[in-house]
Amino acid sequence: MSRSDDSDSGYFFLDPAFTDPARIRRERQKARELRRTPWWRNLVAKGLCHYCGAQFPPAKLTLDHVVPLARGGESTRGNCVPCCEACNRSKGLETPAERLLRDLKQDDGPGEES
Ligand SMILES: [Zn+2]
Repeated sequence: MSRSDDSDSGYFFLDPAFTDPARIRRERQKARELRRTPWWRNLVAKGLCHYCGAQFPPAKLTLDHVVPLARGGESTRGNCVPCCEACNRSKGLETPAERLLRDLKQDDGPGEES
C-alpha cells in the first residue's frame, strides 16, 4: 500500500528528493499557502520572533523553516516559525545561543579602564 511511484524509476536509496528543485518549489508554495491561514496570522499577530524572542510588527516577521527545505524540512506547522529580519539573515551560521554569547563578548570590549 505504501509503494510510491518512485519504485518504478528505481531510486529509493537515500533521498535525492530533498534537493530536488521541483520539491523545493512545491514546499515554498505550501509555505505561501500556510501564510494565508488563520494559524499563521495569529502567530505573526503576536509579533514574536521565534529565535530572539523580541517583538516586531507583524509585517516585519517572515516565515522561517526550522529544518531547511534543502535538508528535508517541510512546510508544515511544526516546521514553520515566525522570524525577524535580523535572525533570518544570520540564521544558518550561528544558533541563537552562540549569537548571544558573541554579543556579550563584544559588549566587553575596550573603553573600560580598570
Ligand atoms: Zn529575531
